[in-house]
Amino acid sequence: MALGLMPMSEEVYRNFIAGEWVDSAAGETFFNLNPADTGDVIGRFQDSNRADAGHAIAAAREAAAGWRALSAPGRGRLLAGAARIIERDLGLIAQGLTREEGKTLAEAKAETARAVQIFDYFAGEGRRLSGETTPSEFGRTLLYTVREPLGVVALITPWNFPVAIPAWKLAPALVSGNTVVLKPASAAPLTALNIVRALEEAGLPAGVLNFITGSGAVVGAELAANAAVAGVSFTGSDTVGSGIYACVSGRGGKAQCEMGGKNPVIVLEDADLDKAVDLSINGAMWSTGQKCTATSRAIVQQDVAGEFTDRLLKRVATIKVGNGMDPGTQVGPLIDKSQLDTVIGYIDAGRQEGAKLAAGGGRITAAPLDRGFFVEPTVFVDVKADMSIAQEEIFGPVLSVIAVSGFEEAIQVANSVRFGLSASICTRDISRAMEFADRIEAGLVHINSPTVGAEVQVPFGGMKASSTGTREQGRVAVDFYTQIKTVYLEY
Ligand code: NAD
Repeated sequence: MALGLMPMSEEVYRNFIAGEWVDSAAGETFFNLNPADTGDVIGRFQDSNRADAGHAIAAAREAAAGWRALSAPGRGRLLAGAARIIERDLGLIAQGLTREEGKTLAEAKAETARAVQIFDYFAGEGRRLSGETTPSEFGRTLLYTVREPLGVVALITPWNFPVAIPAWKLAPALVSGNTVVLKPASAAPLTALNIVRALEEAGLPAGVLNFITGSGAVVGAELAANAAVAGVSFTGSDTVGSGIYACVSGRGGKAQCEMGGKNPVIVLEDADLDKAVDLSINGAMWSTGQKCTATSRAIVQQDVAGEFTDRLLKRVATIKVGNGMDPGTQVGPLIDKSQLDTVIGYIDAGRQEGAKLAAGGGRITAAPLDRGFFVEPTVFVDVKADMSIAQEEIFGPVLSVIAVSGFEEAIQVANSVRFGLSASICTRDISRAMEFADRIEAGLVHINSPTVGAEVQVPFGGMKASSTGTREQGRVAVDFYTQIKTVYLEY
């Protein structure tokens, strides 16, 4: 069914297990609300339990042999088919995304277009899923390796990129020959469901992809604990991620966890300041700062800190906050009340610890935004590197400006956090830029570009507490989803 035929009013959405759309065993549901207007109910989703997770895992096990037996190019063709369906329904998928997650429609369209690129890219991997051949010590011996799927894998995803993240886990998992149980975040399950529908329409055999919604502590925990799940790929907070990693690796499974960030942009005295402001706003404010790669610290050389801050504040004052569906909106709401409380809590902590609030700082309570979880774009100045707003992931439109004496202190401050996902530097000095690339503790390095954004054909992931190490996206993405077998053939 084309998405255009789907009602946009309140609807009950089901789990997808063994090729059937089914209610959860207990018949419980939860509401999915629009964070820009909580009076807008998107629908009810299944509040699944451990038994439902067990059924989904059993269905994936049942389908594993057949899916693995299909050729890798054949599996790739199915992904390419799904890409065409997502492309066809892009506008409607993006509208659903904005309605449930809050980001602007332009951002939602760009994210959905990225999912199309991801499926196309990994469709091609079906023809490149190669091992290696190597000379043997012995005569008349062919020595080679092949990649084999893990078996059943579970994908546990966050709400902030509800189409791109499921896509960048699903595509390499499926093309590698694994069968899947996907559990999206409860705050934005509709978009993931739309991707499942696209794969169903593309002709994915029953049981190859199973989709269940419900609480992370119940369904997610079962997926992590169940011995039939060979691998778990998780993206989300570091607290949950470290628990999942301990659980899965503790039982001998394979775990991949991509977690938080506290990403800096360093602005040196020779930087193009307008460009530095541009990319700081882009990184800190767009998508309401709810990106793992969001810029949350501007580490600025003292000589230009005043001028940088003046230009930054002028730009921040022009940012239009509103419902992401309204043309002209640049910053939408936070995802829910709990995230709003977290962001306001950090803003209060910043004030108490002695940082100076230079812009924003509060919830927006004027109608009609009082019906959603809107917060003002916020800038702190006079921030010290050890303050909580300079150390912890806030996940909101809050930027801390930290003045430093020069390059050495900038690097030391940039590396002084436990996370290491993305980092940027603004400078015209190529030696400084290269030294930054050498010394920064981050998995993603940007020179004169924002900390946010990623291209599908290159690896994505962090260092330190941001990641457990294996990378997503790019050709290396299949490393997690495959195991290598070495074959000695004497002829
Ligand atoms: P979260 O950790 O609360 O939830 C992520 C997923 O885990 C959800 O599906 C949730 O239901 C599930 N979950 C929760 N508790 C669980 C448990 N005990 N066992 C198993 N699963 C459980 O994160 P979130 O609020 O959805 O997302 C925001 C976080 O995601 C931020 O920290 C952000 O930095 C991070 N993130 C990281 C990346 C990256 O690639 N590094 C990308 C996007 C978001």
